[in-house]
Amino acid sequence: MSLLVIGTVAFDAIETPFGKTDKILGGAATFISLSSSYFTKKVNIVSVVGGDFPQENIQLLKSHGVDTEGLQVLENEKTFFWSGKYHIDMNTRDTLETQLNVLEKFNPAIPENYQNCEFLMLGNLAPAIQKQVINNLKQRPKLIVMDTMNFWMEIALDELKETMQLVDVLSINDEEARLLSKEYSLVKAAQKILTMGPKFLIIKKGEHGALLFNKKEVFFAPALPLEDVFDPTGAGDSFAGGFIGHLAASKDISFENMKRAIIFGSAMASFCVEKFGTEKLQHLTHSDIEHRVQDFIDLVQFDIELDIES
Ligand code: AMP
Repeated sequence: MSLLVIGTVAFDAIETPFGKTDKILGGAATFISLSSSYFTKKVNIVSVVGGDFPQENIQLLKSHGVDTEGLQVLENEKTFFWSGKYHIDMNTRDTLETQLNVLEKFNPAIPENYQNCEFLMLGNLAPAIQKQVINNLKQRPKLIVMDTMNFWMEIALDELKETMQLVDVLSINDEEARLLSKEYSLVKAAQKILTMGPKFLIIKKGEHGALLFNKKEVFFAPALPLEDVFDPTGAGDSFAGGFIGHLAASKDISFENMKRAIIFGSAMASFCVEKFGTEKLQHLTHSDIEHRVQDFIDLVQFDIELDIES
């Protein structure tokens, strides 16, 4: 089933305790598209770049089967740029610079071919643009998943709340869940956020895994303990790509299947952090992914007999 992905296609400059990069390929929609391309062959992207964006990066997306008809190139403008620096724990980071550039004028036109998409992934982007995409679709997709970040909570909270009303699943990290709900307990935060629009909430906790909530149930998936985390940039987006990619491929949006999707998402995130930027996501095989998912199963599987005597 076809998946429409929107979000930034960007240049990132990253600094971690292990090294530093100049401008490399990044952006929420880039990570999401690459990650989801391992699950479904019908990935369509709507985004914008400037004239400075290398053709080879567009080729890279195409080589993964991603349809780039909806990727606008504004020849006289510059591509969105983000730079960030990770702390020694690799779980927290500071944004050093965000240059919106092409995003300031972005009008997300949806190509006719993308109109009947059944799954929509609203990657991190200005919430007003995310809303515009929903409104520009003639038919509501079967499932809308939204990602966002503290940056938009700080500068565009009203628009963010409006967009949240229109989506099925919201995916944010623990810090953002606390910021949005003004609750420290993640259980209380989830309860509050689930009254704000989405029916499902994913709270990502970096190296401590991810939680999936609906109003009645909760599911937890660990993160794989990795010996070396090289660069966490894009982990959340790779997670989102695996999550929605699995749902789109299996066409099943039940809570039970979302649990599996969370594991696929976690597996994709675990690959992403092993190299800088999109490097690792570029060369995976289906067998790599199957082995990684098996690692997750082995990590949490145990037998227990519940006959505790009173
Ligand atoms: P993640 O590490 O999954 O949160 O995503 C990192 C990606 O998000 C980077 O590749 C950035 O280009 C992109 N990004 C950073 N800040 C923003 C922003 N304010 N809006 C949209 N995308 C962003």
